[in-house]
Amino acid sequence: MKKPKPNLKTMAKVKNCPLCGQIYVETGRKMCRDCYVRQEEMEGKVVAYVRDHPDATVGEVVEATGVEESVIRRMIREGRFESSNIQLDYPCARCGKPIIKGKFCQDCLMRLYVKMQRTKKELKLKQVGVKDHARRVFMVEREEETNKKPTKK
Ligand SMILES: [Zn+2]
Ligand SMILES: [Zn+2]
Repeated sequence: MKKPKPNLKTMAKVKNCPLCGQIYVETGRKMCRDCYVRQEEMEGKVVAYVRDHPDATVGEVVEATGVEESVIRRMIREGRFESSNIQLDYPCARCGKPIIKGKFCQDCLMRLYVKMQRTKKELKLKQVGVKDHARRVFMVEREEETNKKPTKK
């Protein structure tokens, strides 16, 4: 394999392709021209398959198109399928379980909801018996101050 000699003037823009290792001139594609063309082809295949099979899972798309799962997942993250009604699963941001919409799975959503409700309840308890809002805030602040004191030096 012949390595093209990097031109000093364009040195800053010459990089190694993260996919194939080939030296290329960076033009904002973040990969060499060969890989870019290959990537475009793969993405085209995926988009076409998803259009024809809107209920496909990631595994089915991988099998049918031969495109790596990581590529498909990146496309999902980039919102490439938002215009279609495709429901490709991707990992929950909290536990990694496959989900098809939102950021978290049902379990994590429930846990987060319970946690939120608990926080709300705790806040409410602090507010009980105090009618004036300003005074209430003051009280909560005072309480925090008092809690801080023992550790303060
Ligand atoms: Zn490349
Ligand atoms: Zn989860």
